[in-house]
Amino acid sequence: MKIRRPLTDIRLNTLLLLNARPRHGYELIKDLEAFTGKRISSGQIYPLLKDLQKSGLVKIASRGRRDKKTFSMTTNGRRTVSSAISRIGGLLDSFVSSKLRKCAHCGCEVYKGGCKAVVRSKTMYFCCGNCADACRRWKA
Ligand SMILES: [Zn+2]
Repeated sequence: MKIRRPLTDIRLNTLLLLNARPRHGYELIKDLEAFTGKRISSGQIYPLLKDLQKSGLVKIASRGRRDKKTFSMTTNGRRTVSSAISRIGGLLDSFVSSKLRKCAHCGCEVYKGGCKAVVRSKTMYFCCGNCADACRRWKA
């Protein structure tokens, strides 16, 4: 089953929370507020839960006293969350990859830090001073 609507912040966070463990509506609202730092009303959550049920991502796991429903993920919902997480992971990977620099001596990839050194009047990038020194000795 395809998701008809994009994974908005509240939608995605609801799925992430339910993916961690089943929750009932009120519990979900409190956890969403803690998770997102935003005020969440029951008027936002119950229609969303209904919509997620219609989309086949969420189901009612049990009904407690006074018809208190516990919501949990369906298999399809778990698959949707894990594909959303890998898409986010892919974006993070490409972001981090674009920031990586290769050490001119050992070839390791450096995200932060590292050092520049001039070797044979050429500015080169190294992971550490040891690599820069080794390269200077080697090229001398
Ligand atoms: Zn190095």
